[in-house]
Order: sequence, then structure tokens, then C-alpha cells
Amino acid sequence: MSKHYRRFSSIAAVRDVAATVSPVDIPKIFGENTLTLETLKARLPKAVWKELKKTITDHEPLNEDVADVVAVVMKDWALEKGASHYTHWFQPLTGQTAEKHDSFITPNQGGGVIAEFSGKELIQGEPDASSFPNGGLRATFEARGYTAWDPTSPAFIIENPNGSTLCIPTAYASWKGEALDGKTPILRSGDALNRVAGRALGLLGDSGYGRVYATVGCEQEYFLIDQEFYYARPDLIQTNRTLFGAKPPKGQELEDHYFGSIPQRVLSFMMEAERELYRLGVPVKTRHNEVAPGQYEIAPIFESANVAADHQQLTMTVLKNTARKYGLVCLLHEKPFAGVNGSGKHTNWSMSTTSGLNLLEPGEDPHSNLRFLFFATAVIKAVHDHQDLLRVCIASAANDHRLGANEAPPAIISVFTGEQLADVFEQLINGSAKSSKRGGFLGLGSPVLPNLPKHAGDRNRTSPFAFTGNKFEFRAVGSSQSVSFPITVLNTIVADAISSMSDALEAERDKGVDLETAVGTVVGRVLKSTYHIVFNGDGYSQSWQTEAAKRGLLNKKSTMEALPLFATTKNFELFERFKVLSHAEVESRAEILVEQYFKTINIEGETTENMARTMIVPGVVRYLNELVAVVERTKALGLDSSGALATLTAVNDGLNDLTKALAELGKQNAELGGDDIHSKAGHVYRNVIPAMGKVRAAADQLEKLVADDYWPLPTYRDMLFVR
Ligand code: ADP
Ligand code: MG
Repeated sequence: MSKHYRRFSSIAAVRDVAATVSPVDIPKIFGENTLTLETLKARLPKAVWKELKKTITDHEPLNEDVADVVAVVMKDWALEKGASHYTHWFQPLTGQTAEKHDSFITPNQGGGVIAEFSGKELIQGEPDASSFPNGGLRATFEARGYTAWDPTSPAFIIENPNGSTLCIPTAYASWKGEALDGKTPILRSGDALNRVAGRALGLLGDSGYGRVYATVGCEQEYFLIDQEFYYARPDLIQTNRTLFGAKPPKGQELEDHYFGSIPQRVLSFMMEAERELYRLGVPVKTRHNEVAPGQYEIAPIFESANVAADHQQLTMTVLKNTARKYGLVCLLHEKPFAGVNGSGKHTNWSMSTTSGLNLLEPGEDPHSNLRFLFFATAVIKAVHDHQDLLRVCIASAANDHRLGANEAPPAIISVFTGEQLADVFEQLINGSAKSSKRGGFLGLGSPVLPNLPKHAGDRNRTSPFAFTGNKFEFRAVGSSQSVSFPITVLNTIVADAISSMSDALEAERDKGVDLETAVGTVVGRVLKSTYHIVFNGDGYSQSWQTEAAKRGLLNKKSTMEALPLFATTKNFELFERFKVLSHAEVESRAEILVEQYFKTINIEGETTENMARTMIVPGVVRYLNELVAVVERTKALGLDSSGALATLTAVNDGLNDLTKALAELGKQNAELGGDDIHSKAGHVYRNVIPAMGKVRAAADQLEKLVADDYWPLPTYRDMLFVR
């Protein structure tokens, strides 16, 4: 075995990992590391609790005296949990979370310290904003940003063997108050949704429902590979995906992995990750193998959108940290392995009232059916009117490998309704909602829906946006991305649709028309003009591409095609009207998305070049050297050297192809592509990506020719199948 070769030692190390499983009593540990409402209620003076509760449930502004009292309770609770420090935990526009820890200590008169934490420290922090993406919002002379406590998402404790930290969920803004994070627009769009849905409920004759809020449950897909392989792959370390790697002889063809029995070490990992999440109050529920070898999924029970988004970030963090304890690495990238199924984060979304009503739940009685039809139609209209934003909010260099590539869902945004709902909608469009395939409509224009299957096989996995019983599932969201932008977009566009449908409903009612007829008219009219967004067929098929074009639906296959759809007059106006994002905030976010795209591809391009030059070419050359020696010696001995010569020629040709492709990539990497971020991004999109593709193709070809013990990288076969 050649000395430079690490693969076999990696595999040997994998064999030695022992897994431990410790049983958990879920109800006992659930939420023990979160400051739950119950704990707060039990510890706060009654009057203070009442004030705080108003802020939490009714989103009323928080009074400073209340904050002082809450801060003390929070600090005492955290100290009991062994915390020495606190941090404002926030979500800058990197898609990750950020934290800056401060200890609770304050000097006392006697030269010692005491633990202190004030309402002011709880409510507001001042991290330096200069190192976070701001898309031009922050003038360089004003580097400060601030974080503001979000009392609607519970504080929690993050443990480390050397101590614990109290984490306080916060929003993050520039000094002028412009949002620089994921949380602020979720909160603002949630308020907008509550306002318009409340009005709609009033028009529909519903009262006493409380607040309306979005509910979200995200199914997180991920890969696990052994960390020995990970450390031997600079591409995974630098870019979170493999930039090289030939397709293994066995992939997912046998379909033996999906829902298969979970390997023991993996199951141990899952159990521990779940236990940590339970302790943090994250209600995880489902675990299973996914389609690709080495791919898995974890899903929680849905929560209010804001809390679900925080918990989603925590889930990603806990998955990554826990995997390490089992000698595994958790890969959250959308496409860590080419030619193998990628990972998504199906984002299930609905609207609920604080009184417990799901607005997308088809009801049992005629009235709740009217309500359901109204709100479900609003979602269809929202998707129709704002395909552009839905496409933008999932656009990234990583997700480009899924959307619009050979894998689903397609880049075309459409809605799957299922056959039965389609039947109902089509009758409403034709103005004769009187009968249905199953059950039928009772009474004149008063629809009773057939029982819509909640978990039936009536599932279309090829649709990016599907109605699944009592919620919509946005499937195009990428596995590594923050869900804050998709949630913000969903809340805002549905608020927009509800708002205009409410205007129409009000106008109908003003004519003195009864409620059922009015809803029927409005819903029928809206569906008629938006129904071409509904598609219940196979989203992967070529015929859908043609059909979608005929219907005039957007089909932006890449991030660089999609991003220009963001900062447009329509969208500035939309986000401003609902007070979700200002003109400047939209502009800054659009800028950041382009910047991130450029940086990602730029790093991938450099890493590809570097690995090819310093790892792959040298490995191939060593093998060539050996082949040349064999050919020469066999010739000298007068033996037939045709076999060695044929191998030598193939490898040598492959090396020539690789170095030629590398020269081109080197040239494109060195080229800056202009001064501004848009032209740089355009350059990497047009020139670096194809050049990387050629280097990879040549290298992957060589992987199939070069002696196994000369190949410097763990292969797909190793990484996906050695568990
Ligand atoms: P799938 O069949 O798509 O894999 P799962 O049952 O695994 O479905 O996941 C469905 C997700 O949808 C879960 O996270 C669940 O909590 C969430 N969900 C269910 N109802 C709602 C709702 N009303 N609003 C938001 N999310 C919901
Ligand atoms: Mg799903």
C-alpha cells in the first residue's frame, strides 16, 4: 500500500467505533433546558407574569420594569442549571446562528464578584455588526448593530462539558432599526398574517378565535458519514459537498435503504440527538432512513412559525454536534454526493388560531368548509401571484443541484391539490359546486367536502408545493438553509391573497348577498384566474416542462436566473405594504444572496483546482510511474506488454484530459469577473461552474482507472456504505 494513502486506515478506524444507547424518559426530560412558560409563571409575581403573557400571546410591547423582574428570574434559573454566561442568540443573514457570550459577573464592593443580569441586558445587546452580512445597509462608520429579546421564543441552556450558557433568542438589526436577520421578518410577517386573517375571519362570521399565527413543521433530511472519511476529504471540509467522486456500482437502485432498518450506530446517534432536542423543548417526533444510502430524516411536531424556525436552527446544531460523539459527521448540504438523491427540508405550513382552529382543516360542517375553501384558495392565489418569491426564497448555489437539475422538485413552482380537492375546485370554477365524487355537496351552494385523506397514498412527491390534508408542504426548501426566509415569504404572500380576497368578499356582502353565495363567487372567481398554478401530474416529466411553459409559469432553473426576480417593483411594494421589509431591506437581502452565491462557487472553484493539483494529479502520476516501469521491463524481457501498455495509455490520456481541464479552471479562477458582485457572480456561474464540471469529469474517469491504493480520496462506495 502506498504511503500517502489514507483510505484503508479510515475504514479500519470506522470498525472500532462503539455505540452506546441510554434509555430516556421523554416526559421527564422534555424541556428541562428551556425556560418554559410554566417555569416563568411559577416563578414570576402574578402581576409581572400577566404583563409578560400579554407580550407573548398578544404581542404587546414589553415594559422595562417587567423585563427587570424577568431578567432576575431568568438568571436564577440559569445559575441553577449551571450557566455561567448568557448570550443573545440571533440569526444573521449567513443562514446560521450567532452568539456572543457574556458572563453574569459584576464586581462587588469587596473586590469579589456577584452574578447579575438586568432587564436592560435581557432586552438589548450590542454586537459589532461589521462582521455580518448587511448588503450595504450598514454604513462603515456605524458598525454597531443591536439584538432585541424575543419573548415569544423560550430561552434555553446550551451545555458544554466545561460549562453552560443561557441562550436568549433575539432579533438583530442595524443601529437604524433595519432588520439584519431571519427572525425580525418572520415576526413582522406573522403580525401581517394575523391582521388580515383576523379581518377575513370576521367577514366569514367567525369570532372569539384569538390571534391567527402560522404553524410550521420542517422535515430535515441529512447524510451521515464516518468522520474518518470526512477528514480525508478537503472538499467536504471546505465546501460541505464532494467535488469529486465517481458513482458507485451500487447506488440507491436497489431501493433497500428507504425506511429500512436503521444501522445500530446511526440509531444510537439519533436517540442521543433526540434526547438533547427534547431537553431543549424541541418536539421531535419522526426518524427514518431516507432514499439514498447514508441518508436520514428527522421531523418535529409543528409549532408556531417563529419558535419552529428557532427550533429548526437548534435541530441542525444538535445534529451536527451529536454526530461527532459517534465518530460521524452530519452533512446538511443539499447535494453532498453527485448522482445520489439530495436533501431537502420539507416545510409544512398552515395557519392556526390561538383558540386551536386550523384554518386549512377541511371541516365537518358547511360553515367550516366555507372557511377552509376561502383560506385554501388564498394559498393557491398566493403561490400563483408570487411564484417569483417562492422561487427566490429557496435559491442557493447548493439548492441548484436539486431544483431544475435531474432531481426533484422541479424549478417550476406549482401546487399539488390531490384529486378530490381538485374535483371540488373545478366545480367551484364552473359555478356548480353541488356534487362531488364522494359524498356530494349538501344543499344549495353549501359545500360539504368529501373526507380528504390526510396520510393517504394520494401523495405527489414530485410537486414543490403540495396540499397534504390540512396543511401545505413546501418541498423545494433546501436542507441546509434557514427556514426564516421561506416562512417570511409564505406568511406575506398568503396575507396578500387573503387581503385582496377579503376586499372582494366585503364587496359581495355589501351587495346584500348571503355569505355562502359570496364566498362561492369570490373563491370561484379567484380560482378561475389562478388555477393554472395547480398541477397534479408528474413534476419530473419532460411534458410538464413544456406544459408549464404553455401555461406561462416561471421556470428559473438556477439561482442566477431566479435572483433578479427578488428586488422588483412588485415585491418592494408587497413587502412595504405589509410592513415586512422596507425597500432598503429588500435591496440588502437581494445583494446578500448574490454575494453568497458568488462566494460559494468561488470557494468550490478554488478547492476543486487545489485538490486536483495537489492530491489527484500526484496520485495519478505515481501510478503512471509504476505502469511505465512495468511496460519498460516487460518490453526488455521480451514479454507481451499490451495489457500494461493499454492501461498506461488510458491513464495517461486521462491525466492529459485532467490537466487540460485544470488549466482552464485555473484561468477562470484567476479571473475576477469584474468589480461588482453581480458581474463576479455572473462570471462564476457562466465560467467557473462549467470549468469545474470538466475537471470533475476527467478526475472521476481516472478514479475508475487508477489503482485503488493510489487514489487519494475516500470514494462514494466507502462514504455511503461503510457505517
Ligand atoms: P411526510 O409524510 O411528508 O414525511 P411527516 O408526518 O413526516 O410527513 O411530517 C409532516 C410534518 O408536518 C410534521 O413536522 C408535522 O408536525 C407537520 N405538520 C402537521 N400538521 C401541521 C400544521 N397544521 N401546520 C404545520 N405543520 C404541520
Ligand atoms: Mg414530507
